[in-house]
Amino acid sequence: MCGIFGYVGRQRSDLSSLLLRKLSKLDYRGYDSAGIAVLHKKHFQIRKSVGEVNDLKSKLRGIKISGAVGIGHTRWATHGGVSVKNAHPHKDCSGNIVVVHNGIVENFEVLKKDLLKKGHRFTSDTDTEVFAHLVEEESKSKNFLKAVRDSFKKLKGLNAIVVANNDGELVGLKRGSPLVLGVKGEEKFISSDTPLLSDITSRIFIIEEDEGIYINNDVVKTITLGSDKKSVPKFRIIKINQNKVEKKGFKHYLLKEIYEQPQVVMNIADNNKQNIMETARMIKDAWGTYFTACGTAAHAGLAATYMFSEIAERHVNFSFGSEFPYYEDFLVERSLLIAASQSGETMDTLEAVRAAKRHGSKVLALVNVPGSSLERISDKTLYLNAGPERAVLSTKAYIAKLSLFLLISYSMLGEYEKGVSLLRRSARSLKRIFNVEYQRKLKRLSKRLMNKDHIYIIGRGLNYPTALEGALKIKEASYIHAEGFAGGELKHGVIALVEKGTPCICIVAEDRAKEAILSNAMELKSRGAEIIGISPKKYNVFDFHLEVEDVSTASPIVNIVPMQLMAYYITILKDLNPDKPRNLAKSVTVK
Ligand code: GLU
Repeated sequence: MCGIFGYVGRQRSDLSSLLLRKLSKLDYRGYDSAGIAVLHKKHFQIRKSVGEVNDLKSKLRGIKISGAVGIGHTRWATHGGVSVKNAHPHKDCSGNIVVVHNGIVENFEVLKKDLLKKGHRFTSDTDTEVFAHLVEEESKSKNFLKAVRDSFKKLKGLNAIVVANNDGELVGLKRGSPLVLGVKGEEKFISSDTPLLSDITSRIFIIEEDEGIYINNDVVKTITLGSDKKSVPKFRIIKINQNKVEKKGFKHYLLKEIYEQPQVVMNIADNNKQNIMETARMIKDAWGTYFTACGTAAHAGLAATYMFSEIAERHVNFSFGSEFPYYEDFLVERSLLIAASQSGETMDTLEAVRAAKRHGSKVLALVNVPGSSLERISDKTLYLNAGPERAVLSTKAYIAKLSLFLLISYSMLGEYEKGVSLLRRSARSLKRIFNVEYQRKLKRLSKRLMNKDHIYIIGRGLNYPTALEGALKIKEASYIHAEGFAGGELKHGVIALVEKGTPCICIVAEDRAKEAILSNAMELKSRGAEIIGISPKKYNVFDFHLEVEDVSTASPIVNIVPMQLMAYYITILKDLNPDKPRNLAKSVTVK
């Protein structure tokens, strides 16, 4: 998603190249345009482009812009279409102030109206541009730092902003979105992403809420929104694994990550006893447990509610991160919120956690990326240990969350070892799905599905969330409309859409939902649907069967994988890039 990288330091003959190199590290995350501004002889040279950082590089045609101050940005549009004029950096009327921004200025229309009245001229449709003009306006009566701080105070919403002027001063401020500072000798680097600094320095300063940094050629100071106090930043040593994430012979990250899943499940089975026991205790002690997450992680959270009920006979509540703030009023100090996010930077999930914190509740985080914002504000963290997930579609992080929830559920019963043995069985059975014959079968099926307009997927109980997740994978990558449903719900409306040849995937686990879901499959078939069964046994109602092993309550871990692979193969057949679906971002850092 949106990313920021800024530099203040010595005169570099190729500062533009440094900015572009850093921005291209964010390539995998999904964004729609990119831009840089370099202060060159007291004037900002701004270059922007729609598309990838590589498109911006081509636009520069090898020209290097020298300077000692520069900022860069990858944009995921929220306000204003995807166009060069809306790409960041944005500037004020004079062109002496430039801004990059992650987030949403919720009150930008009111601010813009006021600035227009005062004679400011806007050149984009973004919410971001108001900030450049606000600073210009405020600068009429105060110094740059004060002007930036007072402008930031006027913003509503969750934002990280980096702004520079043509005197070589740079200020970064944040509320919500992440921002970090790294220093090496006389060079200072500011970024939304710690990993962008990993090959430069491990001395990192993490900017906290409503705080920021002020940099000029001589000083680096931390600043706070609420006062004039400035202080010297206290750096922490943060070492980030710099190993380049390779595709290891796979054509795409997505396929590689799907194939890594058995190992992810084994890691969780082997390495978590102490943490899982402590977590089970936290849940037992809590007066109410709530799950919150977004997207794929939300499906894992929903699956957890079934696991907790089925295995541990324990009621837990679920709400999407973005809905949680409207659902928080009954939280008390002894409530527990379990928040899951692969990146640990998902804004909606972070907002839910902040809401819980306001009530004094405890927070347990499930994250894959160490050192993330979610980890920092939570009371306890369970790591997914799934390794870097580079494909925009989340696969192995999903499986990791399911595996952790399964172990926690069994621990609540005092049967941790049973959970471990089910995970081991699941990991083994996943490996069988990856055999050549199975892949051929999946490719044949994908060919039949690639030209369909709609695919319906049904599951019940533990596998209702599997149906939702399978549909999400197919939609995200192949752009085919796929919808997951609780099997029993179809007859209450959606069955009206089923006609001759409509593909319907039925997930049939060997559990107490089996008879009912098979009846739902019959209801669909009677109306002409083509039934694709994912199950340990083959049933007559199936037109096509994808066999999976019976792994009891761990079935959601196994049943999702054929659909992940289908999503991949359909996408390849349609000649689309499965690693970079349109409009999607890897970590969603706006509300
Ligand atoms: N709201 C800003 C825009 O639409 C920033 C989006 C982002 O965070 O990339 O330009």
